[in-house]
Amino acid sequence: MHIMTVDVEDWFHTFDSRYYNRSDKWRSLPSTLERNVERWSDFLSEHQIKATFFWLGWSAKRHQRLVRKLSEAGHEIGAHSYHHIKLSDLKPDDFRRDTRQALNILEDVTGKPVTSYRAPGFSAGKDTLWAFEILSELGIQKDSSLFAGRRLNLNHSVVPSEPFVVSGGGFRIKEFPVVGIPLFGGSFNYSGSGYFRISSLHLIKKRLLHAPYMMYYFHPRDFDDGKVKKTDERLFFRLRYKVGTKKTLHKLATLNQKIDFVDLETADAKIQWKKVKQFRL
Ligand SMILES: [Zn+2]
Repeated sequence: MHIMTVDVEDWFHTFDSRYYNRSDKWRSLPSTLERNVERWSDFLSEHQIKATFFWLGWSAKRHQRLVRKLSEAGHEIGAHSYHHIKLSDLKPDDFRRDTRQALNILEDVTGKPVTSYRAPGFSAGKDTLWAFEILSELGIQKDSSLFAGRRLNLNHSVVPSEPFVVSGGGFRIKEFPVVGIPLFGGSFNYSGSGYFRISSLHLIKKRLLHAPYMMYYFHPRDFDDGKVKKTDERLFFRLRYKVGTKKTLHKLATLNQKIDFVDLETADAKIQWKKVKQFRL
């Protein structure tokens, strides 16, 4: 099962101090989101792939036509918070308010309930497990905010490399982790964003084609064609937004010849949830 997702945010939604939590600044910056998401949407239609789009609420508010278009094309619309603040920088009540704000705009625009969530920067972890209960309270049933292999602080358990269930008093969330391949004592996520862009097609095929479960995650910046000029020319940004972007779609088209990519909703329906690992908080 290979799941296709994209976190829909703009190039300035980073954790760099110049832009982090600075929505007052974001308004005046040129957006590259629409152009890149349109290209990505054309690519998915051409290759008959359905994906889950985790929208940042702030961006969804400014691109409502695009949110609606993707939803009407049969893609799943999920939430990626409203202000792109890491969970570790939020108190539970602020997290609840931010998530609700994102869900409100997405549900208003699509007319459908939003049941999938991804935290900014995959920032869910052992210190922010309180977030799962709040997500459930807000109607979220599926989450994809954890990296496999990270410690969960549950009897020293670590996040499994396949979908599992997190539950607690009165709630139950289906978790779809991001999986890395062990490398030099760390983990390398061939299936996502910059890791995917810098890896050769040969290596990606070798590592991913036969994996029983894989979570792919991209951003509009991963297929940026460079036509809209960004206003930040620091080396960090040039590297982050240019390296490998021209080959992303070609690599995915090649993988698509061998892999049936699905969105989170379709994956959810295929899994026998009674047989997966369960974690009680
Ligand atoms: Zn993000």
